[in-house]
Amino acid sequence: MKPINSFDPTRRKVVGGLATGMAAAMATPAFAQSSSSQSAASSGAGDSSGGDGSLLNKQDPTSQYPAPPFANQPQEWPGLAGDMDPRPDHGEESYKGSGRLQGRRALITGGDSGIGRAAAIAYAREGADVAINYLEAEESDAREVIELIEAEGRTAVAIPGDIRDEAFCRELVETAVERLGGLDILVNNAARQQWKPSITDISHDDFDATMKTNLYAMYWITQAAMEHLEAGAAIINTSSVVAYDPPKILLDYAMTKSAIIAFTKALAKQVAEQGIRVNAVAPGPFWTPLQPSGGQPDEAVESFGEDTPFGRPGQPVELAGVYVLLASQESSFTTGHVYGAAGGSGQP
Ligand code: NAD
Ligand code: MG
Repeated sequence: MKPINSFDPTRRKVVGGLATGMAAAMATPAFAQSSSSQSAASSGAGDSSGGDGSLLNKQDPTSQYPAPPFANQPQEWPGLAGDMDPRPDHGEESYKGSGRLQGRRALITGGDSGIGRAAAIAYAREGADVAINYLEAEESDAREVIELIEAEGRTAVAIPGDIRDEAFCRELVETAVERLGGLDILVNNAARQQWKPSITDISHDDFDATMKTNLYAMYWITQAAMEHLEAGAAIINTSSVVAYDPPKILLDYAMTKSAIIAFTKALAKQVAEQGIRVNAVAPGPFWTPLQPSGGQPDEAVESFGEDTPFGRPGQPVELAGVYVLLASQESSFTTGHVYGAAGGSGQP
């Protein structure tokens, strides 16, 4: 039986139509949720005091967020969260912090949208200063994140640039370290996912771009970051459920997501004696611009998340707590592990 969804698509359209400017977009709930979460949303973004946070209220996860069918909504790569319908919930109004990362300095790739943005907002609300990397085409999404971090009274550093370039990756780390005054948390989260029906459709340039974005950049950025990370630091790499169960249309992408797990486990062993922890997160499926911008065929976006036991995709904020936990000292004995969150499907 399909779960009953409290999400009201009529309201979604009205809300989307009203949200014209950036301020409006930021002040508007991503979508109507239960009445309890609406009241939490109206208590105001930027309240990091705990409060009546919607995420903390007991509620039914099957109906907590929108379920398919979704509108057909193809976007040009790399896609914008601001153009998604419904807009994803990255925790803009729902995430409440409690000082778990006080004074830490974090660099997050792909911090403009999706899972990286949820981590960026949560880290700032937990007391961290945050640098985000993204592509120049994503400036409008990135600006919203920068404003949300600054609204917490934390330092926000925007470093646009293409991580397929080794020199840029090294410059990215140096800039982040200089502007944040050091580095305690590195989140390797940016990725390229472009579906292709057959191996014969994957051009050399496609393959190269996927490997450069998802693997070489992680290696370049982490190598540069090692110069600066000290005992107590944490590295978190975003893998995927496809590392364990690769779909046939995501051959090159799935290869990289498996490799990220091997990288995570080997590096964890290597840097353990330095007191640095390395873990991975294996999400899927999550409602982010990665999917409608070439990550899935259009019809798969319309039914996205339908085949999970919860019958819906995750919202980025539903991973925020995982990225906070893996970065914080609370998980001091956790290293070399993979944390899954896939609505009842997938591994680990
Ligand atoms: P997203 O599109 O919001 O984030 C991906 C980000 O990667 C983009 O915002 C972009 O800034 C960045 N990026 C891509 N190519 C880049 C380049 N060449 N240079 C610099 N930045 C670049 O989508 P998301 O789903 O939040 O993706 C974040 C991570 O989550 C990725 O590693 C993805 O593989 C992983 N993931 C997503 C899902 C899902 O269902 N959305 C599932 C499993 C894993
Ligand atoms: Mg983006």
